[in-house]
Amino acid sequence: MSERHLDCEQVIRHLLEYLDRELDDRTMAEMSRHLEQCRGCFGRAELERKLKESLQAAGSKRASSRLRSRIKAILDSF
Ligand SMILES: [Zn+2]
Repeated sequence: MSERHLDCEQVIRHLLEYLDRELDDRTMAEMSRHLEQCRGCFGRAELERKLKESLQAAGSKRASSRLRSRIKAILDSF
């Protein structure tokens, strides 16, 4: 019992924190090691990552187009 291994259930439970890098270094390393070896969890992690990225991209795109139209409105008023 010298090494602590995460099982799939624990990996899935910590997945969002892992993607946000909110886990301690040791758990981050163990998560990485599990994901390298486990196709199921790796696929799940990739899915969550893509979902997160697309949400962030959608959010920032909306914000920037709103900002652009505000800037355009200000420029047009001169
Ligand atoms: Zn797994």
